[in-house]
Amino acid sequence: MKSHYRVVVIGGGVVGASVLYHLAKFGWTDICLIERGEFACGSSWHAAGGIHALNADPNMAALQAYTIDLLSDIGKESGQDINLHMTGGLTLAGTPERWEWLQSAYRVFQSIGIEDCELLTPEQALKRNPAMSIDGVLGAMWADREGYLDTTSTVVAYATAAKKRGAEVVLRNRVLELNQKPDGWEVVTEKGTVTCEHVVNAGGLWAKQLGRMVGIELPVSPLKHHYFVTETVPEIAALDFEVPMTVDLEGFTYTRQDQKGLMVGIYEINHEHWAMDGAPWDYGMELFQEQTDRIENELMCAYARYPALEKVGIKTWVNGAFTFSPDGNPLVGPVPGKRGYWSACAVMAGFLQGGGVGKTLAEWMIHGEPEADAWSMDVARYGSFAENREYIRQTTGQFYSRRFVMTYPNEQLPAGRPLKMAPAHDAMTAAGCRWGTSWDLEVPLYFAPSEDFVETPTLKRSNAHDIVAAECKAVRKNVGLLDISGFARYEVSGPNAEEWLNTLFATRMPKPGRARLAVALGETGRLKGDLTLFNWGDGTWWIMGSYYLRNWHMRWFNDHMMAGVSVRDLGEEVAGFSLSGPNSRKVIEKLSVDPVGDLPFMGCGTFDIGLIRAHVARMSVTGELGFEINCRMGDHVALRRMLLEAGAEFDMKEYGFNALLSLRLEKSFGIWSAEFSQLYTPGMTGMDRWIDWDKGDFVGRAKALEERDSGGSAQTIVTLEVDAQDADASGYEPVWRSGERVGFITSGGYGHTLGKSYALAMINRDCIEEGTELTVHVVGVERPAKVVVASPYDPQGRAMRL
Ligand SMILES: Cc1cc2nc3c(=O)[nH]c(=O)nc-3n(C[C@H](O)[C@H](O)[C@H](O)COP(=O)(O)OP(=O)(O)OC[C@H]3O[C@@H](n4cnc5c(N)ncnc54)[C@H](O)[C@@H]3O)c2cc1C
Repeated sequence: MKSHYRVVVIGGGVVGASVLYHLAKFGWTDICLIERGEFACGSSWHAAGGIHALNADPNMAALQAYTIDLLSDIGKESGQDINLHMTGGLTLAGTPERWEWLQSAYRVFQSIGIEDCELLTPEQALKRNPAMSIDGVLGAMWADREGYLDTTSTVVAYATAAKKRGAEVVLRNRVLELNQKPDGWEVVTEKGTVTCEHVVNAGGLWAKQLGRMVGIELPVSPLKHHYFVTETVPEIAALDFEVPMTVDLEGFTYTRQDQKGLMVGIYEINHEHWAMDGAPWDYGMELFQEQTDRIENELMCAYARYPALEKVGIKTWVNGAFTFSPDGNPLVGPVPGKRGYWSACAVMAGFLQGGGVGKTLAEWMIHGEPEADAWSMDVARYGSFAENREYIRQTTGQFYSRRFVMTYPNEQLPAGRPLKMAPAHDAMTAAGCRWGTSWDLEVPLYFAPSEDFVETPTLKRSNAHDIVAAECKAVRKNVGLLDISGFARYEVSGPNAEEWLNTLFATRMPKPGRARLAVALGETGRLKGDLTLFNWGDGTWWIMGSYYLRNWHMRWFNDHMMAGVSVRDLGEEVAGFSLSGPNSRKVIEKLSVDPVGDLPFMGCGTFDIGLIRAHVARMSVTGELGFEINCRMGDHVALRRMLLEAGAEFDMKEYGFNALLSLRLEKSFGIWSAEFSQLYTPGMTGMDRWIDWDKGDFVGRAKALEERDSGGSAQTIVTLEVDAQDADASGYEPVWRSGERVGFITSGGYGHTLGKSYALAMINRDCIEEGTELTVHVVGVERPAKVVVASPYDPQGRAMRL
């Protein structure tokens, strides 16, 4: 072990070894992996070694596909046989809704380039896996890229390949302390102290402690997990091929062949956490006693699916622990506020995700940004609320138990909720509000007409459709009131505030008393933000954006900080309401003697609204005349009461974000994580319209210019009218022209004002002409669609400029 490295990776499980390999592969070789024990002595050694591409999250599915493709290369490059068996895999659907979901997942896979899948009838599935019963199976999806491998050999293979490229490995050496230094980290180990520029927490079961060493509480916890391996199953032994990996979603089990027997893994409804503060340091390669009582129901499902198991004994039980984050995705990337400290933990499926995690993290460290959109695994997607032990217990447990349980897009899950509530929450609940969640905050979805209304979970239009329609109508024809506490707000001040903003944003700065849509780019010229900038005219500025990105935004701001600038996240201090609709000016004017009603479109200022001193801006995401009224958190209840009283004579209606999503779709207004993401460029998203090319340098300018001067992007976003019947597009469905895939949906829904189904889609430029006939898969069914004018409702934007 040297005294200094560029990078120290802590943890010799599959994730740490993959990070080490990718760093070396991409050219950083002054790197060292330090492992407490032997390779794979955490959760990696006793994994079932299953690999499959299916994941409900398309970004995670792409990551898994990358890993699977990498595995055979790793075997070859290292010379280490990893016993890779690419048997292919089946995913079974046991309910009509699941079968619908699987058919739509199959189409989403096509959109993200996973083409080696096919849909099968139960009988076709049986031919591929004759060991199972197809009782209750309604259909299945086959994927070529599934199988299994030997776990410890795979870890060794990653590390050996990394060593061949110049990396070092030190085994049997626990990291005891991590101390931040001005130029990096001091890593105190049992075998001495080393310094490094970057340190990677790939501590798996011990990731929590490695976080605490630097004063952070990572939202991660281990949970126990069972599988068993049977003795020889005669029906399997008689076959001249291996049975495929098979996931029985309704049975909560996954299976694969093991020798001539079967390995059966179980996602337990009755889950059990273990060592929430991280595994004990002296925890070795131990297993827990099997707990068959806890998994009795799942075992019965497994035996019903494989009746032949009744006749054979169980050879081995494994009950081991592995780690989960609240949403089940890994925690990867630079930890906010800890320069040079990188997270690569909470990887719940290290053998199928570890390759992608290693690649992403290595790119991030070396190039400043990963190639893919890493949001769904970014460690910055959580805030301090997720440090809470009970929050972690509830959310990780919920994820684990629901791993194979279907979640509908309109379903609201209970774990970790309600947490943060804007002050008017209870009054709004009394008014019928039904809540969703964004980050830690309860956000209004719609207002139910009666207490006993229950929304049915569905992949299609729900029974709340007409409620949302009425809310949309109120906004378009009259005036609606929306709680906008769920917007992120940052205050920028200091002598260099304007200069800093001018460098960080590609857009021209708004004049005093004005707001402007502001594009932020990364150094790669891809999008970093679709934010709104407010110049309050008194030396302070606000940046407003999506609430759930607060920690992510703040990391970006701090990484680009400049002397003489102060940025404050106002998320705990400011709340607000938005008035929208042709009568909204009349309502706000009733509450103020100030000339708030005279604000020009995109004007902003500080006004008295009733008793409250508020920051008001004339704008609305609905595309109507509107005012966003921002108040102190504590004024929220009073503001709502005053607005409701003033709006009563106009029959003002409260509405929620479901209506807002429909209204913005009719205006073709994009949103982050759908039309806008770190993967897309200004040219792809139309955000180039907001770039001020003449204002001088700004972050990402050179790359954005390259795109502009090379003739623009190959794809761009258009609005589609979809001939849908009882369901709408939602995201990632493929778009076709004459059988050729020409793009994919970024988001979709029902336009209640125009009475049509709409979608925004990223498609090839030769298909974007208005009237182009296309087709789109909606919940697995191909439907006609056509390109329509952007902003099908009020294309000239007259309503919002009233
Ligand atoms: C029963 C079971 C079945 C599973 N089946 C599958 C499957 O089929 N497919 C799949 O993809 N995944 C499966 N998994 C999950 C898989 O095991 C994990 O995702 C994976 O092992 C995580 O790897 P890791 O490198 O993050 O963590 P770990 O394997 O826990 O590695 C972390 C390493 O860090 C070291 N370390 C920690 N602290 C220190 C320190 N202070 N100093 C030095 N070293 C330190 C530890 O010793 C350990 O070796 C299964 C898990 C279980 C329990």
